[in-house]
Amino acid sequence: MIAAIRGTHDILPGEVDKWQYVERYARTLCERYGYAELRTPVIEREELFAKGTGESTDIVQKEMYAFTDKGGERVTLRPEATPSMVRAYIEHNLEHTLPAAKLYAMGPMFRYERPQKGRYRQFHQLDVEVFGMEDPAVDAEVIDLAWSLVTGLGIAQAELVVNSVGCPACRPAFQQALLAALGDNLAKLCGDCQRRSATNPLRIYDCKVPADQPIIDGLPHSVDYLCDACATHFAGVKSHLDAIGIPWTQSHRLVRGLDYYVRTTFEVLGQALGAQNALLGGGRYDGLVKKLGGADKAAIGFAAGLERLVLALPESAPIGTPARAFIVAIGEDGRAAAWTLLRALRQAGVPAQMELEARGVRSQFKRADRLAARVTLIVGGDELARGEVTLRDMATGEQRAIARDAVVTTVRDAVASTVGNKL
Ligand code: AMP
Repeated sequence: MIAAIRGTHDILPGEVDKWQYVERYARTLCERYGYAELRTPVIEREELFAKGTGESTDIVQKEMYAFTDKGGERVTLRPEATPSMVRAYIEHNLEHTLPAAKLYAMGPMFRYERPQKGRYRQFHQLDVEVFGMEDPAVDAEVIDLAWSLVTGLGIAQAELVVNSVGCPACRPAFQQALLAALGDNLAKLCGDCQRRSATNPLRIYDCKVPADQPIIDGLPHSVDYLCDACATHFAGVKSHLDAIGIPWTQSHRLVRGLDYYVRTTFEVLGQALGAQNALLGGGRYDGLVKKLGGADKAAIGFAAGLERLVLALPESAPIGTPARAFIVAIGEDGRAAAWTLLRALRQAGVPAQMELEARGVRSQFKRADRLAARVTLIVGGDELARGEVTLRDMATGEQRAIARDAVVTTVRDAVASTVGNKL
């Protein structure tokens, strides 16, 4: 047997119902907030992420599925969506063609990470991006969408954490203060932190090594070094959140593992998830469009991990599979009549099934139970002779005869009233 690759997973029927529910909810919400879907390829030029995600990130240094293709070009499976969204925004001039540059995408991402619960090598993200606006209301709208996604799915014990990491004007002073505060302690930190101190010192706050934590906890906070413009902006984001009752906490440790963030950063954590507890994360990345060859545009976005949203979904989520009908056929004539009825029901939009291979009545009813059929139609010699079929409500066991001509409309009404997957 050839097994699936480590860190990848099949999403089996049954489990898929939860995925479809989460995906449907995410789409509905994005569209309600005015976002349009953009679909980009899963394979891109390697340099897009080296430049976009950043050379100093773990993603680019250690985790990309990059290779040389048969034409000699360096390509990679995408490790995240943002650089692709920015590329497409620039390449198709979306600034001029879209009514509002508010975009979302959903799909698989690939990172060669150490797999564990909630962390995979192929995983899926909902990605949301807004281009060309820097007002704090935009940050707050994006955070509102992220928070509404998590809470609307019924995920309890979620926590929204926000921070501001400043801009190119104020960050150098903060980085200096950070390195000065580290002083001799730098040599006591892990190898990764020492490397980060040279490439992107802010990323020291991301370190998870337990022995490093007491030192990192004592380091300065970026919010104490913001320039006036960044401080005003961050205050504006928080007051917009307060005005609509979204609860946030502030953490100086929230710097995010990517190079491009400026000003606002945020994450929503799911307390029930264990070590991999970030449901989603994002922030502002005002310099990235220009860096990737576009105009000097502000931008902000977030990515949510669909695996983690599915894991955190409560038992009570209204996932219900669509109600369906099952036809039990008795005898050769019954099977022939059932075959045409099956087609008529499906043409009328009713999910319907029958046993296509001849089976006994008991075995057909067993199948109807396993399929959780809402109603069963019994089509047999006696009923046919009277121009009727018998309709059995599988929940109550109640049976009644219906005229053959009325079957399709009756069943359609019975099933339509119980179709699941409502938002
Ligand atoms: P990032 O793109 O690293 O900012 O991550 C955004 C979100 O994607 C995280 O909060 C997770 O929910 C999810 N995520 C990131 N990496 C993985 C992974 N390897 N496996 C599953 N989910 C992930």
